[in-house]
Amino acid sequence: MNKTISKHLSTCSYCGVGCGIEVTKDAKGAIAVKGDEQYPVNKGMLCSKGMNLNYVVQNTDDRILYPQMRWSKSHPLERVDWDTALTRASAVFRSLIQQYGPDSVGMYVSGQCLTEEYYIANKLTKGFFGTNNIDTNSRLCMSSAVVGYKKTIGDDTVPICYDDIELADCFLITGANPAWCHPILFRRIEKHKELNPDVKIIVVDPRKTQTCSSADLHLQINPGTDTMLHHAIGRALIESGNIDLAFIENHLNGFEAYKEKVLSLTMESYAQACGLSVEDILSAASMIGDAKGFLSMWTMGLNQSAKGTDKNLSLIALNLITGHIGKPGAGPFSLTGQPNAMGGREVGGMANLLAAHRDLLNPEHRQEVADFWGVDQISPKPGYTATEMFEALDRGDMKAVWIVCTNPMVSLPDSNLVERALKKARFVIVQDISYKSDTVALADLVLPAAGWLEKEGTMTNSERRISYLPKVLNAPGEALPDLDIFLRFAQKMGYHGFDFKDTEAVFLEHVKLTEGTNIEISGLDYQTLKEKRSVQWPYTNGKQQERLFTDKRFYTPDGKANIFPAAATNELEKLTPDFPLVLTTGRIRDQWHTMTRTGKVNRLNTHIDKPFLEIHPSDAEVRNIKDGDVVEISSKRGTVRVHAQLTDKIKEGVVFLPMHWGKILQHDLARTNNLTDRLLDPISKEPDFKYSAVEVVRYKKQ
Ligand code: SF4
Repeated sequence: MNKTISKHLSTCSYCGVGCGIEVTKDAKGAIAVKGDEQYPVNKGMLCSKGMNLNYVVQNTDDRILYPQMRWSKSHPLERVDWDTALTRASAVFRSLIQQYGPDSVGMYVSGQCLTEEYYIANKLTKGFFGTNNIDTNSRLCMSSAVVGYKKTIGDDTVPICYDDIELADCFLITGANPAWCHPILFRRIEKHKELNPDVKIIVVDPRKTQTCSSADLHLQINPGTDTMLHHAIGRALIESGNIDLAFIENHLNGFEAYKEKVLSLTMESYAQACGLSVEDILSAASMIGDAKGFLSMWTMGLNQSAKGTDKNLSLIALNLITGHIGKPGAGPFSLTGQPNAMGGREVGGMANLLAAHRDLLNPEHRQEVADFWGVDQISPKPGYTATEMFEALDRGDMKAVWIVCTNPMVSLPDSNLVERALKKARFVIVQDISYKSDTVALADLVLPAAGWLEKEGTMTNSERRISYLPKVLNAPGEALPDLDIFLRFAQKMGYHGFDFKDTEAVFLEHVKLTEGTNIEISGLDYQTLKEKRSVQWPYTNGKQQERLFTDKRFYTPDGKANIFPAAATNELEKLTPDFPLVLTTGRIRDQWHTMTRTGKVNRLNTHIDKPFLEIHPSDAEVRNIKDGDVVEISSKRGTVRVHAQLTDKIKEGVVFLPMHWGKILQHDLARTNNLTDRLLDPISKEPDFKYSAVEVVRYKKQ
């Protein structure tokens, strides 16, 4: 047996739970991982994905090892050195900016980027290219929750801490399957309920997922009717008097308009729209009304919707009218899909944000950041958001895109448009670690990036917890940390302000920009993070704040929270006789995103080894579909062909596809997003992955 020669503490690079990991390296360089028992998030636990991270790191067969470039669209990719690659990239970006203006280029980055990388990508784009065309795959994940928080509590901030889980006695888990997608948090909920059987768990989902196994009440809602349900619960709480009148009087704006809205429909009308019984809705309301600590937890089921903002507003309202915020075991708690979605937003990593939660539309905020970076101005025009960016490439309004650490060919809605856009673009840079990304094949320039453990930096998890990730291994081949690639590129462009002596210097520049903001982390540096292991923001005078709003003063101008009479109508894609079923999409337990990492771990592939369509037996019967048959699913946008899985765990009239597989890992017709629409929430610009009109037929070979 090889002896351990070094031990390192890091953070899992998959979901936003942000579990602590102890990494050991032996004399031969082999890596082992286990849960960090001292880490407050996971206390030694890891889910299947986290505990297999060592296989991802050690198996480098799929890794991109050196830069590659094609001289024109008709040429194949060929190996080049870094200098040639970055000289070409800078020449193309410079020339396009000169010829067509700054808005002709953009960057599409990822919630997997480290905070320092995110910061520099934003500085490059907003400060120096002169465009706000930088968006992130976090747009597909959290942007509706961001709008919900900003409108209600005044800033993009999760008010709870994970320790509130053990203090809560009622959980409303809606539009989420944490048993599979945030397993360690769910394990904490399960343990809490095991020890306290009176704890109530309500799950809202059109599918009976694994999370329902612990539920006291499963509300198998009609897809898209979440706001109706929230209003129905709001009505029941008001009618039963289970609201916090003192909180409403002293700390809340908008109650009368909200009350009028939720009382405008009868419980019967709400129940009918949601496909539920009045009794079940009243039962949910009384569990919430009786609670001493009520946590609402949600993720993509609410966020990924053309009505995502309304769904968030109406859910957060339930916490606010009951006064369940800013006290132990209570609050709205959005679950995050990506490990550093929150860190990305801290540095302004979206097309409508600026550093440290500054507002792009605020001229003073723009000038503060411009002065800090030593540039004349930041453009006042919001950039293209994720989906819009690829539409702009398709139209020819954008000419070039730099894609970092994400696989839009599989993950964005309407994949066929994304493919067409990338083929039409003048210049596509793809910076990634793996050839398993379908997007790499459409690049004009491929830049090999370092992965987890191969670079240092910081991330922030869903409870505002910042952790430091050390470099443990050298990246294979010529791969470089994303940060180094950006900094080298900036030098090629001749930009000032990018001559950092190390990664920490970038972090410290970000820290400086947080001064005086709600997310201040003054005085934080790598040494402090290594000593404390992690801290939660805001962090000032050496003190972190675990739970926010304990004084009931919110980040709004008057210090009060706001509630809104959110519209309950669904302006979604209409079902028609040609497309009569609702498609909803999601994830499976052992895969993460587009499988570029989890897909190469054999033991993770054994859980579910190929894509499938969940369909109710009644819907299958009328279509003469048997369990295991190959079926073709079609929408107005495209087609998917997978095996049918008959189950009464899904509501009649609804079908489900997992979103993970693409062409490289399966085939062209395994790509779920061939079917989904580019409908966006008008405010959050988050696409709707949860409601597409489709038809399913048994596939007959020609
Ligand atoms: Fe990693 Fe999330 Fe699993 Fe924790 S719950 S080990 S962060 S994938």
